[in-house]
Amino acid sequence: MKALIVSEIVDGKLSSGSLEIVSKAEELGLEYQLITLGSEEQPIIGSNSFKQTYLKRSPNSLQYNKIADYISNVIKNEQINLVFGSSTYQCRDIIAYLSVDLNSSPVSNVINFSLENDKVITLNSINGGQQLYKTEIDSSISFLLIRPKSFEPANIELNTDFTTIEIESGNCNVYEIHKEEKAGPQLEDSKVVVSAGRGMVDVANLELINKLSEKLNAAIGGTRAIVDAGWMPYSQQVGQTGKTVKPDVYIACGISGATQHQVGMKDSKFIIAINKDEEAPIFQIADLGIVGDTLTVLPKLIENI
Ligand code: FAD
Repeated sequence: MKALIVSEIVDGKLSSGSLEIVSKAEELGLEYQLITLGSEEQPIIGSNSFKQTYLKRSPNSLQYNKIADYISNVIKNEQINLVFGSSTYQCRDIIAYLSVDLNSSPVSNVINFSLENDKVITLNSINGGQQLYKTEIDSSISFLLIRPKSFEPANIELNTDFTTIEIESGNCNVYEIHKEEKAGPQLEDSKVVVSAGRGMVDVANLELINKLSEKLNAAIGGTRAIVDAGWMPYSQQVGQTGKTVKPDVYIACGISGATQHQVGMKDSKFIIAINKDEEAPIFQIADLGIVGDTLTVLPKLIENI
């Protein structure tokens, strides 16, 4: 089966979501290539392991219709049957265009997939991870949107060996770009994440979260409740409508463990939860549970690390 991975660039390199799909394609022995979207001048996205085409778009124009036209032609001309993208805003837009162009329903939120008798079988997570369903795709071209952190990223050396295609400007112009400042370890790739919930009681107490994360060299996350309350920016929200993380250690401080939060962190390797309510759902998935007040437990932890 011939496959195409629609990929993206983060910090000048192939995104970890794209590398996760590469590792699954390698595992299944698929014949695959990458088409990567971006506006960077010199990205490091090539590899000896696959054919890479860089679709360079202008940072001042959204050209998804033109990008989709280009990719549709590649799919038709090269008789590709399987098209992947990571579940990100950009890939969702592109896959939506492609699926209409090529008349095949996309399958989203895929957390695993396999090939059985030349059919693509997917496992999908819906309703904030409360339900899993299986699909068998009965179409000559399958479009799959893969949930980030579903697979380990491929450990391959990247280079600058790829073909670049410049995409002409479209009819939707970008006139302002705001980039969130990034400081310290980032949620997506940190080995330790310290997350805060409403059980931190007051925004001022997030100082304890900062101190603990500094000691552990951890990234900081939070629940939607505290993001909505303005305690933390949305870029740090973990969960169904935020980021998915899979660190070695996840420390949930004053978090109830609603399913919408769990879906973004339940695959962490070791989960530590601090909550004063021993019935809190977070304890059902915690490897280590501390029943106590965050404002008492955290200072002791910080002091003793
Ligand atoms: P609460 O549920 O209020 O829990 C606070 C916890 O702190 C309680 O368990 C309490 O016992 C404990 N506590 C209180 N005081 C202390 C103390 N002093 N010491 C120790 N423990 C204490 N949520 C997300 O997080 N991420 C998402 O992406 C997300 N997406 C959503 C999408 C949809 C469509 C919907 C409907 C909801 C979504 N939510 C999401 C919201 C989610 O349902 C919960 O409301 C939210 O996760 C709760 O956040 P919390 O645990 O901080 O607050």
